[in-house]
Amino acid sequence: MSLVVQKYGGTSLADSERIERVAHRVARTKRSGNDVVVVVSAMGRQTDDLIALARQVSARPPAREMDMLLTAGERISMALLAMALHDKDIPALSLTGAQAGILTDSEHGEAKITAIRGNRVGDGLAAGQVVIVAGFQGVNPDSREVTTLGRGGSDATAVALASAHSAAVCEIYTDVDGVYTADPRVVPDARKLAEVSFDEMLELAAGGAGVLMARSVEVGRKFKIPIHVRSSFVQDEGTWVKENVMEEAIISGIAHDTSEAKVTLWGVPDRPGVAAAIFEKLASARVNVDMIVQNVGADGCTDLSFTVPEAHIEIARQATAELVVELEATGSSVDANVGKVSLVGAGMRSTHGVAARVFRALGDADINIEMISTSPIRISCVVNRDSVEDAVRALHAEFDPPVITAEVGADA
Ligand code: ADP
Ligand code: ASP
Ligand code: MG
Repeated sequence: MSLVVQKYGGTSLADSERIERVAHRVARTKRSGNDVVVVVSAMGRQTDDLIALARQVSARPPAREMDMLLTAGERISMALLAMALHDKDIPALSLTGAQAGILTDSEHGEAKITAIRGNRVGDGLAAGQVVIVAGFQGVNPDSREVTTLGRGGSDATAVALASAHSAAVCEIYTDVDGVYTADPRVVPDARKLAEVSFDEMLELAAGGAGVLMARSVEVGRKFKIPIHVRSSFVQDEGTWVKENVMEEAIISGIAHDTSEAKVTLWGVPDRPGVAAAIFEKLASARVNVDMIVQNVGADGCTDLSFTVPEAHIEIARQATAELVVELEATGSSVDANVGKVSLVGAGMRSTHGVAARVFRALGDADINIEMISTSPIRISCVVNRDSVEDAVRALHAEFDPPVITAEVGADA
């Protein structure tokens, strides 16, 4: 008997009718002889609604109380799904993240899973139950406080449970039927990928393709758990995210992200140790820095820009204001009106001219590039936020259909 982990996103659980439909699919998987662990998200947009509610009662809600509030969303779905399964004569047990033994660090709002302990999930499965686990949450073993894993965190719960319980596959059921060459809401003629490698999916997810949380892909890659992204509304195969893919395209997809801001320190004296001082300060303020660009001018000063998540803007603003004084720089600025577009493809490694085509396509679309960063399989550009969707469409038109260059590896 093999174990299947199924994760259902908010849209798939948005109302009682959809919960009923999910129960039906889970029941069918169970009756066909599998052990089933189900990970649920909060219903519909409930997490957003709870965040909005918190803001109505407090300008600065404490992170601990925020986690107490948000974890309630997933508890509602898990209990309702368990009830719907009982009605179908399928024994089901719902568990919070803490009850399922999901241990995390202490970072409220963006905790990382550090271990999965205890065996309530295993005991439930052994007793013939479908075990339903609340996604997106865990507990810190030292403080015993409840934590949340960051937006989209139920994906991470699902893949981590799949690896801890040696599941054959982790199925992510969502409102699209797979991973597309770009967000189908922005590029209506984007194509569904049959498969994509962990490395490429990680770059896409880190670049803003919200269909999978980046950390879930990291866990899948580390423990070699194939992830099947598919729709809860149809039966069709979705996209397999796995180690080796049959065909390596130059370009697999284009991701975009409008949740970062650009911070610039102007006129920083150009001497050894300055960059270290800047990023040590940001690190101690727990600011996550993404892209970094430095321009040294003829006057012996440098302008240094970097991007940070919008949630970190205020801390970054304060830290850079202090740095201006400490380093005797000219000034600092924050521009939240930016976005990032990323082109991802493993075949880029062995193909010349991809960067030139990216810059030409953006130039022809009259889009100015403010920052550039690359990895061996990714090119990212920061552009004005109003131009982000046009940039995605321009790059998709330039690189679609992708050229197949080689057959690599074997089926995972
Ligand atoms: P869930 O609530 O099921 O976790 P999400 O909203 O987190 O669903 O993720 C699904 C959404 O991800 C889709 O509706 C789609 O708009 C968006 N998305 C962004 N990039 C992509 C992509 N490359 N392929 C598919 N969907 C994408
Ligand atoms: N409910 C949480 C969110 O909206 C977690 C998740 O859905 O994965 O981000
Ligand atoms: Mg999601």
